[in-house]
Amino acid sequence: MPTNMMEWGFVVVFFLLPGTIGAWIAHTKGRNPFLWFLLNALFAPTVMITAFQRPLRPVEGHYRQCPKCSEFSKWRETSCRFCGTGLS
Ligand SMILES: [Zn+2]
Repeated sequence: MPTNMMEWGFVVVFFLLPGTIGAWIAHTKGRNPFLWFLLNALFAPTVMITAFQRPLRPVEGHYRQCPKCSEFSKWRETSCRFCGTGLS
């Protein structure tokens, strides 16, 4: 266990921070935030995998799924960035 502020700082920067960021990104993509928290906290570079993977399902406020080509677009986009179909 960490015994002083320096060690706590190390734990936060190298484990809790990537873990929390990864869990949040996973949440926005409809994935399991607890699983991704653990993975990203144990091995920080896996945050990149979390950031670049496709969403699993549409998540309100984050991603929409195109009804025509079933690709995902950002929630704020009004038309599919792959085929141009209007999203609502
Ligand atoms: Zn589309």
